[in-house]
Amino acid sequence: MTEALGCVFCRIAAHQAPAKILYEDDQCVAFEDIRPRAPVHALVIPKKHIAALDAGLETDEALLGHLLVVSARVAREKGIDRSGFRTVINTNAGAGQTVFHLHLHVMGGRIMHWPPG
Ligand code: 5GP
Ligand code: ZN
Repeated sequence: MTEALGCVFCRIAAHQAPAKILYEDDQCVAFEDIRPRAPVHALVIPKKHIAALDAGLETDEALLGHLLVVSARVAREKGIDRSGFRTVINTNAGAGQTVFHLHLHVMGGRIMHWPPG
């Protein structure tokens, strides 16, 4: 279920665009952010194309929960679980969303200030 190849994250999920993949299963892929804003900066995406968190996801609750579980697993495998990590979803342009395929940022390895800018 891809939005064909107009979507860069669909291409990564389909292994048709390069990415440093950290984890993959039948529902999702985790990979390194191409422009990291922290020493550890990974993205977790569903393989299914979902544009954003406001896309009417009532039937996707299990998938959304799975993405959170995988985010914690990626943090643990990158060694930032104990020191602390931040899991972020930007929704729509005003919040900083630039890629319209749902993704969870997993960031850590430095002090994460609050509130984010
Ligand atoms: P957003 O701003 O939508 O919340 O986050 C999009 C993220 O995707 C950014 O952190 C950006 O660096 C990352 N990104 C954009 N295009 C690519 C790509 O082709 N490959 C990878 N690995 N990351 C990307
Ligand atoms: Zn997509």
